[in-house]
Amino acid sequence: MERRPLKKVCIVGGGTAGWVAAAVMAEHFRGKLFEIELVESDDIGTIGVGESTVPPFLQLLAKLGINEQDFVRETQASFKLGIEFQNWSEKGERYFHPFGEVGAPVGLTDFYQAWLKARAHGYPHPFQDFAPASVMAREGRFTLPHKMPGTPVATASYALHVDAKRVAAFLRAFAETRGVTRTEGIVDEVQTRADGFVDRLRLRDGREVSADFFIDCSGFRALLIGKTLGVGYEDWSHWLPCDRAIAVQTQNVGPPPPYTLAQAQDFGWRWRIPLQHRAGNGYVFSSAHLSDDEATAVLLRQVEGAPVAPPMVVPFRTGMREQIWHRNVLAIGLASGFIEPLESTAIHLIYRGMDFFFRYLPDADCDPALAAEYNRRMRADYEEIRDFIILHYCTTRREDTAFWRYVRTMELPPELQRKIDLFKVNGALVEGLDALFRDVNWQSVLDGMGIVPRSWNPLVDRLPFERVGPEFDRARQTLETFIGGLGGHGEFIARHCAAPPPEPPARAA
Ligand code: FAD
Repeated sequence: MERRPLKKVCIVGGGTAGWVAAAVMAEHFRGKLFEIELVESDDIGTIGVGESTVPPFLQLLAKLGINEQDFVRETQASFKLGIEFQNWSEKGERYFHPFGEVGAPVGLTDFYQAWLKARAHGYPHPFQDFAPASVMAREGRFTLPHKMPGTPVATASYALHVDAKRVAAFLRAFAETRGVTRTEGIVDEVQTRADGFVDRLRLRDGREVSADFFIDCSGFRALLIGKTLGVGYEDWSHWLPCDRAIAVQTQNVGPPPPYTLAQAQDFGWRWRIPLQHRAGNGYVFSSAHLSDDEATAVLLRQVEGAPVAPPMVVPFRTGMREQIWHRNVLAIGLASGFIEPLESTAIHLIYRGMDFFFRYLPDADCDPALAAEYNRRMRADYEEIRDFIILHYCTTRREDTAFWRYVRTMELPPELQRKIDLFKVNGALVEGLDALFRDVNWQSVLDGMGIVPRSWNPLVDRLPFERVGPEFDRARQTLETFIGGLGGHGEFIARHCAAPPPEPPARAA
């Protein structure tokens, strides 16, 4: 059979999704396979939030050959060792969800299991005292763990807090120098062929853009996948009832802490994402319980620095497209779905979506078998992340508002319920296939929320138990002493990757 290779791919949208898609394709194909054109509208603009990432983001930079310190400088970034959760299990409680490992295996035994037994026998020190990233974050210190092999912090991991607009600008320059064409204009109409495939875009000024394949990065508008092809949206708001955010940028007060803050509120939660030149803040809330004005007032009362821009309302609907790839349209970014940013996973799903696209790269006929497998894999990622986010809510003990009473008692996705029930037996976990959140992530959140298994895995009983407590103490002290000798996060940035001060906003003539 004669093959009809793709000759041209068009990306609609120039937010983080559009420019990540353009950058990875430009780097991967180096102008060899097909032409790439990106259409975006400065008048419509981007969502402008999305500033906290997870560790695989650094692998994306490495794959693109981008120097991490240059990127940190250009995007006013700071380092992120994890997330501090405040007031989630109960008001006044806090826990840290770190990146990287917690403790080291005891012989052949998982650290968590050994710690569980020790704790049941009165061992007083919390699980997170053994996580290098948690201890560094608590002390406000930072170093690059992979540059410290053989030390107690080598098993930590980290990600970045980034300025969303600067990331898009950085990746745009990257993609344009590698041959991606950018077209500025508003897409007014999308024309389809007789077989239902998208044929061309018509821009407001009359220009037309045609291609064999389209990547819909038009954000919540979902111009191609939703509006044109009519692919439905699976709504998950009965499990994740927050449906709006108020976002505001503020001045920094003091050096940026090396972690994201997620502080539970009466009807949702508040984020604080520290960058070098400012902080990003937001209140993610349920509009069934709180108005925009009330949420804005709460947020402005709680942020630490003075606002540098007016607060912005961002409505959203939690869920995912029934098909992320349909015919010759692939949705990436917000057009494909959205889960609230509690674990900073949306940007991750962008480059995951592109990785899978390369794996199932089609010819111009877009064999539906490729799209079907792509959709199955992406759904697995979406559902894994969805369940992990629900975990933060459903394990609460809070009963102080209707919002918390609802999430505490709602019926869960059966797979999540099964995972929690299994964990409660003896700390066993259902292992995901190629999952973003591994055992240690589930253990950190479940432990942080105060869920204690009834027993431990009997294999732990092999250990000479009298030696375990003293061994734990030694490990903890070695970690603390080592971290005590590291410099602060602010100092690390100043020494290695400080951004030039941002230009002041242009004054009106
Ligand atoms: P957008 O940024 O909305 O870009 C859409 C693009 O399409 C724009 O360029 C626009 O101009 C263009 N466009 C639309 N219509 C047309 C048209 N008719 N013609 C031409 N162009 C058009 N993710 C994280 O990983 N970490 C976080 O901490 C995080 N926080 C978030 C907080 C909130 C409240 C929300 C809502 C999201 C958050 N996200 C986060 C998600 C993150 O913001 C997005 O995944 C990311 O910014 C990608 O957005 P996008 O590019 O898909 O959409």
